[in-house]
Amino acid sequence: MSKLRFEVITAAFGRKAVDVSAANERPSKYYAQKVFNREKMFKYLPGDVYKKLIDVIDEGIPMDISIADSVAEGMKRWAIENGATHYTHWFHPLTETTAEKHDAFIEHDGKGGVIEEFKGKLLMQQEPDASSFPNGGIRSTFEARGYSAWDPTSPAFLMGDTLCVPTVFISYTGEALDYKAPLLKALRAVDKAATDVCRFFDKNVKKVTTYLGWEQEYFLVDEGMLLARPDILLTGRTLMGHDSAKNQQLEDHYFGSIPERVAAFMKDLEIEAMKLGIPTKTCHNEAAPNQFELAPIYEECNLAVDHNMLIMAIMKDVARRHGFRVLLHEKPFKGVNGSGKHNNWSLGTDTGVLLMAPGKTDKDNLRFITFVVNTLAAIYRHNGLLKASIMSAANSHRLGAAEAPPAIISSFLGSHLSSILDHLETTDDVVRILSKRELRLNIPQIPELMIDNTDRNRTSPFAFTGNRFEFRAVGAEANCASAMIALNTAMAEQLVIFKQEVDALIDSGVTKEDALVQVIRKYIKYSKPIRFDGNGYSEEWRKEAEQRGLDCEASAPIVFDRYLDKESIAMFRNMDVMTETELRARNEIKWEMYTKKIQIEARVLGDLALNHIVPTATKYQSSLLDNIIKMEQVLGKEEGDRASQENIETVKQIAVSVSEIRRLVNEMVERRKVANRITEEREKAVAYHDTVAPMLESIRVHIDKLELIVDNELWTLPKYRELLFII
Ligand code: ADP
Ligand code: MG
Repeated sequence: MSKLRFEVITAAFGRKAVDVSAANERPSKYYAQKVFNREKMFKYLPGDVYKKLIDVIDEGIPMDISIADSVAEGMKRWAIENGATHYTHWFHPLTETTAEKHDAFIEHDGKGGVIEEFKGKLLMQQEPDASSFPNGGIRSTFEARGYSAWDPTSPAFLMGDTLCVPTVFISYTGEALDYKAPLLKALRAVDKAATDVCRFFDKNVKKVTTYLGWEQEYFLVDEGMLLARPDILLTGRTLMGHDSAKNQQLEDHYFGSIPERVAAFMKDLEIEAMKLGIPTKTCHNEAAPNQFELAPIYEECNLAVDHNMLIMAIMKDVARRHGFRVLLHEKPFKGVNGSGKHNNWSLGTDTGVLLMAPGKTDKDNLRFITFVVNTLAAIYRHNGLLKASIMSAANSHRLGAAEAPPAIISSFLGSHLSSILDHLETTDDVVRILSKRELRLNIPQIPELMIDNTDRNRTSPFAFTGNRFEFRAVGAEANCASAMIALNTAMAEQLVIFKQEVDALIDSGVTKEDALVQVIRKYIKYSKPIRFDGNGYSEEWRKEAEQRGLDCEASAPIVFDRYLDKESIAMFRNMDVMTETELRARNEIKWEMYTKKIQIEARVLGDLALNHIVPTATKYQSSLLDNIIKMEQVLGKEEGDRASQENIETVKQIAVSVSEIRRLVNEMVERRKVANRITEEREKAVAYHDTVAPMLESIRVHIDKLELIVDNELWTLPKYRELLFII
């Protein structure tokens, strides 16, 4: 190992994991300590204000401006008592991170001093100077204003000395410039549509809540080593690096014992998360070396999305305190598993029923089948769009790359549920109404055990797992909202159609139960192509999926087109989630981001190739040449040459690789120039995908060859075996 590399590594190892004072306390003591939750609202707000605010949160009643000052005052008092000096509107712009602009609570008191102040107006709405957030052309520069507006359904929280108020972010003309605004609309749409369908089974249902339980995968790398790898530092992934002789083939990392230093990090992270009201539950090793996972208990979807954005932010901070850097990139290392973020998704009623869970009675089970089948129909109709909702430059390294979910959306139900649907599809006498108007399904009783008993299929991008569906194709770095907007809107649309069809049959004199079963049967047939229980990685599946008419496109910029299909535009418009203008603007951003990501990677690789790899390889080559000449001098030409045969070969190999690297880097620069001249964002992204991105791979091949032959002492960049195994 080179001296430089050795020094950075040992420097990082010198650090001690921080002492965790809360470590000996019970989580229930500090849980939600930093959240302005109901308990604090009750304590800090006047009784009538508290009641009104709870109505806003629970019933979706519009916010009464008259209570805003009072809420702001209570919030400020609580925040200041807990050490806050600043406040910020916290929102999710379309950059996949969160944004905040901190303002101090102070105002002039008119007597030459200052007072701490936080008015309702500032809580409700602000106008961040937002011209540098992506907007896809919605805001022309002279109208660069964007508004952030309070989302009372996600509680305010404290980060360091700052009170953070979750907000939506919209343009001057009302279009959403963030993820939260359309998410809230999608959740409202699915609430309404699902409530209507629930009433076929239970008239008491008034509200349906969407639940999300995410599982966050990530890698940890020693900070010292990461700092010596400019590619990871600047792009989040390794652009070069030969496979380590050992990686995950022994399958010894998954669920293995957690290294002490990592355990200290996890403990610290868990405490921070708990204080912010994030109910973290599971931490374990993942499949790849130095890969880990964190999952909380599932929560209401909007809150869960906020919590995931928060956890990604605090993970980065906590990791640095422990001398680590956390990598959320979907594919930081070639040859080992990438990172995803499984989105466990379900719907539940205000009467306490999980709609995707089987029940005890036939009626419960008909309701269960109704929601499962409607889910299948929704994801079948919009399978291309769902893929678009999780696609990104980074995630395209996972999708279809023979490891994580393939770039084809399909759904795994397991043999039991599949056979029930098959039965319902083909059997005519499934429903009989007995004299007591009792419903009978002529299907085997669905065992309650099924909840924990569903077979596992790790290759499926959208698997049924007992009482929920698990959308596994979501990327580790992504904002879950993107997937949740598409999925919930598609579900809302399908449930609306379903209800209309059932109602029409009832109106024509068919009994409710018969009508339900008839329409369910129709959608079992309709959605059949999306059901696939086999191996999603296999080549046969690709061929079959194509025959079934599923979307098999894998090129990210083209996958984004699915947002602009007329079915997608109609769906988002009819469900009142996004307008065509918003969709078009978002796509502009997606294409632009794609281009920029590849552009940055190309620049970084070009630089490193020319100023790290080529000089290092040339230096080693010179030392070999020196040796060859000296051998000749000492042993004479003939014997010297014989003895130096292998070194001469190596010298030639280096010469070939070095000149190839130079040629390819030049070509990549030329291709970038051509692509950069394209003015249309979509075409530019396609050009980057088709012409620039493949160059990254071809250059890397030569670099990785050199890494194997150049003297380890000279190689400046930490290698996979160090990045992945030293911790
Ligand atoms: P696995 O890794 O086997 O898929 P985990 O236990 O790691 O399972 O994660 C399961 C996730 O699913 C957790 O976040 C859990 O809270 C969530 N979950 C469980 N039930 C539901 C549900 N009905 N709706 C949404 N999420 C759920
Ligand atoms: Mg899972």
